Amino acid sequence: MKPAALKTQVSSGGVIFRRNRDIIEIAMISLKGGSVWCLPKGVIDKGESAEETALREVKEETGLKGRIIERLGKITYWYYLKEENVKYKKTVHFFLMEYESGDISNHDWEVDSVSWFPINEAIKKAIYKGEKEMMEKAKKRLTNSH
Ligand code: ATP
Repeated sequence: MKPAALKTQVSSGGVIFRRNRDIIEIAMISLKGGSVWCLPKGVIDKGESAEETALREVKEETGLKGRIIERLGKITYWYYLKEENVKYKKTVHFFLMEYESGDISNHDWEVDSVSWFPINEAIKKAIYKGEKEMMEKAKKRLTNSH
């Protein structure tokens, strides 16, 4: 087989939170039959800003509308797509968002389920290290300002 081609891909997503009394809750999506919990995100379309993508993808995947508080940072990972024989270097930007409206019952059919979790539980549930780090940042930001 030919050596894998190398491509880059850039996505954007959100750590969307709400306060339930004193507890900060984060919305997460589950994939692969519920075995993987992660943050909502998606590929940045042509002409779209990272902020616009994050708001759009959070809305599409979770059913929730948020407003951006600040940029949390970006994560990078590699994955291999067998069907294309392509190695992707992927960057994902993440934004802290405050929940405004909408309901998780309106989540995307491609997502197995959506749930609100207290932030400490969300950090534990997250399967990817980079996403855990984004939520740790969000936690710091949200607990220092109160
Ligand atoms: P997008 O949600 O941006 O449209 P996608 O669903 O096509 O993207 P990814 O979620 O990037 O693709 O998943 C591609 C591969 O990378 C999968 O094997 C997935 O398990 C893995 N992956 C996803 N997120 C991470 C991460 N934060 N760290 C490491 N590997 C990841």
